[in-house]
Amino acid sequence: MNLKLILESQKQYFQSQSTRDIGMIKKRLSSLRVEILNREDEIYDALYKDFKKSKFETYFGEIGIIISEIDATIKHISSWSKPKKVKASGLNFPSRDYIYSDPYGSVLVIAPWNYPFQLALAPVIAAIAAGNTVVLKPSEHTAYTSKLLVSIITNVFKPEHIKVIEGGIPETTILLNERWDYIFFTGSVAVGKIVAKAAATYLTPITLELGGKNPCIVDNTMSTQLIAKRLVWGKFVNAGQTCIAPDYLLVHSSVKKRLISDLKKEIISAYGENPQVSPDYPRIINTKNLSRLTSMLENSNVIFGGKSDPEDCYLEPTLVEDPSINSKLMEEEIFGPILPILSYTNEADISSVVNKYEKPLGFYVFSTNKSFYKKMIETYSFGGGTINDTMIHFGNTNLPFGGVGESGVGAYHGQLGFDTFSHKKAIVIKGNWLDIPLRYAPYTNKLNNLKKLFKLFG
Ligand code: NAD
Repeated sequence: MNLKLILESQKQYFQSQSTRDIGMIKKRLSSLRVEILNREDEIYDALYKDFKKSKFETYFGEIGIIISEIDATIKHISSWSKPKKVKASGLNFPSRDYIYSDPYGSVLVIAPWNYPFQLALAPVIAAIAAGNTVVLKPSEHTAYTSKLLVSIITNVFKPEHIKVIEGGIPETTILLNERWDYIFFTGSVAVGKIVAKAAATYLTPITLELGGKNPCIVDNTMSTQLIAKRLVWGKFVNAGQTCIAPDYLLVHSSVKKRLISDLKKEIISAYGENPQVSPDYPRIINTKNLSRLTSMLENSNVIFGGKSDPEDCYLEPTLVEDPSINSKLMEEEIFGPILPILSYTNEADISSVVNKYEKPLGFYVFSTNKSFYKKMIETYSFGGGTINDTMIHFGNTNLPFGGVGESGVGAYHGQLGFDTFSHKKAIVIKGNWLDIPLRYAPYTNKLNNLKKLFKLFG
């Protein structure tokens, strides 16, 4: 089907008002839920073929999250979409004032490869819940999941409601040249800037879910064993290819040795002596990314792991001690299973490292010292974070998920996802039983009364 025809059919479908039918949306979402659960094994299979993601991680990071988003949306969509009555302004007396949630129209969703099922479908669910039509462009690097998304969406939705268009840079460029009412992009900062430029042509509103160098600060008040357990999970789940994974560690020098020893033990306990044979450890997405990661290890002080197998796109969980702040490893987002460990002795050391980078997407502090972690939360600007664990703020749909500065624009999840995809229309319904003449010309002798009114209601 030709793109212009798809867009035209989506526009017509939108204009027919069908996309706003809450009953229809609930039905379609229930069918999507059934389709996903009926095809659970195919989803496991696709993710395994794409980069050997285990069934557990696929349920945890992909299927489970989508089922929760569907359930929450079906449960709350009626109340999310109702016009919200707000306090009226005395200046407009008499009136009743409302905020209407209005769909934008045609939405383009561009997805990345690292959580190729979840990061494609979560924005799509929010977009249709808000009453939009969607074109979804999955990542070309996860071909099996991309194909499966086509099949799942085609089985559940009419193409004039949701259409999946597969492809890479050329196809995405063509899509970006079209006029959309909203663009939702998840991916790298560099491509985010391309998307923002394309959107600027038509002043199209956007959400950009990007990445960054997420710090993890560890003081000396907690059990290093517990920290190691939670850190190894957060850093090496999905083989480190998670936008909110801790990128580097800043640990108080007094506990660094102990933490490193516990990290090594914990990696072995999670993935065994040879993680390449562990059924739980995924692969790097492709050889291009593997060489990007291995080149980061050149001339660095690898104290654990570091071995790779290009034929298997495999890189061991790796620890690097005291990398130079100017090294390649510390220059850009790692997005792989390498954990650089730096140390600090005072807060000035922390600030000199954290402030070297753009505002990150995630931020982590391990500390039982409330005044210390509160200070960290308040001092630094970042998308979102967790204290005494990593990444779990993502799992609460009542919390916004998104970045700030170079780590992103806008946020979603739960009701915020619905709100992201709806324009908030201000509506005042003026009463006719009274018409205060003050605002009408001629204004002679009215200024003092106007000032009094502003003092009362302004
Ligand atoms: P990417 O930016 O390379 O690709 C994302 C999407 O953009 C893909 O669908 C791809 O086909 C398309 N694309 C790539 N190059 C393009 C170009 N030149 N013009 C137009 N479209 C193009 O990102 P990725 O490699 O898939 O994912 C990794 C990055 O995404 C990391 O930086 C990571 O931090 C970030 N990320 C962010 C989140 C988040 O929720 N904030 C989630 C996952 C990943």
